[in-house]
Amino acid sequence: MIKMLTLLKNAVIGPCSQKEKKDILIAGDKICKISPAGALSNEKIADLIISCDGLFAYPGIIDQHVHIAGGGGEQGFESRTAEISINDILMAGVTAVVGLLGADGYTRCLENLLAKAKALETQGITTFIYSGSYALPAVTLTGSMTKDLVLIDKVIGAGEIAISDHRSSQPDAKSLFRLASQVHLGGLLGSKAGVVHIHVGDGKNGLRPVFELVEQTDLPIDEFVPTHVNRNPMLFKQAINYCGGGGNIDLTAGETNGIPVADAVEKLIATGMDLSKVTISSDANGSIPGGGVSKISALYDDVKTCITKKKLNPETVFRLVTENAAKILRLYPKKGAVKEGSDADILLVDSGYNVQKVIVMGKLMVNDGRVVSL
Ligand code: ZN
Repeated sequence: MIKMLTLLKNAVIGPCSQKEKKDILIAGDKICKISPAGALSNEKIADLIISCDGLFAYPGIIDQHVHIAGGGGEQGFESRTAEISINDILMAGVTAVVGLLGADGYTRCLENLLAKAKALETQGITTFIYSGSYALPAVTLTGSMTKDLVLIDKVIGAGEIAISDHRSSQPDAKSLFRLASQVHLGGLLGSKAGVVHIHVGDGKNGLRPVFELVEQTDLPIDEFVPTHVNRNPMLFKQAINYCGGGGNIDLTAGETNGIPVADAVEKLIATGMDLSKVTISSDANGSIPGGGVSKISALYDDVKTCITKKKLNPETVFRLVTENAAKILRLYPKKGAVKEGSDADILLVDSGYNVQKVIVMGKLMVNDGRVVSL
């Protein structure tokens, strides 16, 4: 099959303090060559040339916590939320998502989640899902968590398993350990990340069950990804300790009651610790306790606030939603990098960090801040 050649001309890779312009040649869905601007001899054979003057290229954002098929229902049936639209995902600069169920693993099912993930993939982006829901024993597609990971390509872990929350199934240490072991084995056999994505609520125990799992079992600390850790100060403090000990922590975008992402990132940087285990996800299309629906746009809004208002290093901030997430999900460097050989998932922003263009698997899907008609 002949691959379409797309040439991105004059893009600066990385923060806008950098000056050097590059040409990025994309063959099909991969970045095949990055050269100083004007140096590529292939220019004449490109099928499509996209001028990127004044634009800054970053990897497409990876959002590892999206209720793609809807969520909610916790305030009654009328609070069930709708499926996400591909346009909302693209406008947020997101090129890969992990879909998940949530509190409602009863009227919603994994088959529907998998179908929605497949639909989004057909529409252009890369998708994965977590098996399970809030509750243990976990709902699965095949009757076995391990089998789900081994046999179903899109399943890369379990989640969101709820702890320290009045809405959780109050799992004891043994049942969490059992689930994590099943995911671990499935990850090994299926060559997947095999992560347990853990919803941590406002309950008194906070992260304690995760600390116990790590301390009392032989499972690798990398397997666990506790999320919502910026929802209250006590939990955030625990999360700083957990991350300092080598654990992954995931912040939730759009937080207003707890610690907003920009404040949390600023605090984490101030501790001087290694941020490679820190990520941010949107929790999009979940219902917000007390009313409302969380939006995927909140993720990029928070990224932008970190850079433009808090003046945090753009490279550090972008890494939280690209490279770090890709590494935790074992997708790096296929995803999470603008490098030769990586998937051509590229976000192009202007000097005010507004999303201007989004290239997904080599296809221009957002142009001049608008979704290109699909
Ligand atoms: Zn959650």
